[in-house]
Amino acid sequence: MAFAFFYSKKYGGDYLIITNGTILSFDEQNTIYENQAIYIKNGTIEEINNKEKLLALYPDEEIIDAKGKYIMPGMVCSHFHTYSSFARGMSLENYNPNGFKEILEGLWWKLDKSLISEDVYYSALVSAVECIKNGTTTIIDHHASPFSIKDSLSLLSKGFSSLGVRGSYCYEISNRDGYEIENAGIEENIRFIRETKNNENSLIKANFGLHAAFTLSDETIKRIVEEESKLNTGFHMHLSEGLYDEEYSQKKYGKSVTKRLSDLGLIKDNSFLVHGVFLSDEDLDIIKESNSYLIHNPQSNMNNGLELPRVEKILEKEINLGMGTDGFSTDMFREIDVCYVAHKYANHNSSTMSPDTVKKLVFNNNSKIMKKIWGIEGAVIKKGAFGDVIIVDYNPPTPLDQNNLAGHLVFGISGTNVDTTIVNGKILMKDKKLIGIDEESIFKEARKLSKKLWERLNG
Ligand SMILES: [Zn+2]
Repeated sequence: MAFAFFYSKKYGGDYLIITNGTILSFDEQNTIYENQAIYIKNGTIEEINNKEKLLALYPDEEIIDAKGKYIMPGMVCSHFHTYSSFARGMSLENYNPNGFKEILEGLWWKLDKSLISEDVYYSALVSAVECIKNGTTTIIDHHASPFSIKDSLSLLSKGFSSLGVRGSYCYEISNRDGYEIENAGIEENIRFIRETKNNENSLIKANFGLHAAFTLSDETIKRIVEEESKLNTGFHMHLSEGLYDEEYSQKKYGKSVTKRLSDLGLIKDNSFLVHGVFLSDEDLDIIKESNSYLIHNPQSNMNNGLELPRVEKILEKEINLGMGTDGFSTDMFREIDVCYVAHKYANHNSSTMSPDTVKKLVFNNNSKIMKKIWGIEGAVIKKGAFGDVIIVDYNPPTPLDQNNLAGHLVFGISGTNVDTTIVNGKILMKDKKLIGIDEESIFKEARKLSKKLWERLNG
């Protein structure tokens, strides 16, 4: 790892040569490179060339041998709630939700109000470990801990970045807990954005977070828009997830959620809008015109008993639709599988969703989201993209080429095939062994903390 102390002007990162694998670039053409190696310089992909040439040019660099396996980009999860990892297996007394709003009130808003700073930090550590194991190299998180707001975004980002996982973080502001908490949420976004800008590190980025239209007054949104205009990090927020959001907006403001937020200045070219389940054609036109981004989370929509967004229509309008998991899992391969079957089932039409469409959302469109936030692409192997790469131990029983790669993605490659995970040119897991991470003690402490959290919730 020679020259590891020389950092580029933009960001710092490691140096690495990855050899002896078939490179599935997952670029727009599904380019596959045989007998080629990847040179990662200072955290980004500098060159794809044959092994002998790269080794001759850069004889001192660390080398990793893919042992004939497939090399592909690390997965990007464009919408996540880290704290949800502490809800796994949890049961709540008197929790019998009827509809989306009752799920929020009875589960998520109870959980987030009980979070303390240690929960925030350890939920990030366990999520980071699971990301590495599942080959997810970037998380775009949406955080809430109303009674432990200050420094929560620093703790979250510390949890992920200390284990080497890339992320962008925001605090979801809402009016649901009164002015003081709303104000603390605004302050935490501003504080963390400034901290991130002052301490440039490609593993940590910030957005301005908002919960959703139905928990935010016009007055609060105007203040947020004003504050964000001084920082220009873009907004990350839920949009038209449940029908309640739309009904509330029509009743109170006489317009759709999208129209209201657009009129208030929230829908712009660096707005990351999550779900978009109940959007009309007019709403989609507003989003298209603004060049903002939509993020699809099929597992979450199904789990909440909602409908699914009109993916075909959204893509027909050439809106950039990426994919996240909404905290459901760090395993993007699972989200891919669900997305592929969910739309066919929901539409009772087996032609509704193609493997290529799913691939486009997860790779090409998530890559554009990363480019917007970081200024550098991810979710692709190409010169100039982040050196976020995974090696998968996948043995296809049928031919694999650029025309059917998406079919292998949907029906074949899974999170359990991930063998090696590299972020920013740094090896975080090799041959399924985490490097320099004490997984056992992290999970032991997480189990202690989550048990106490559940006791507080039911107490
Ligand atoms: Zn969400």
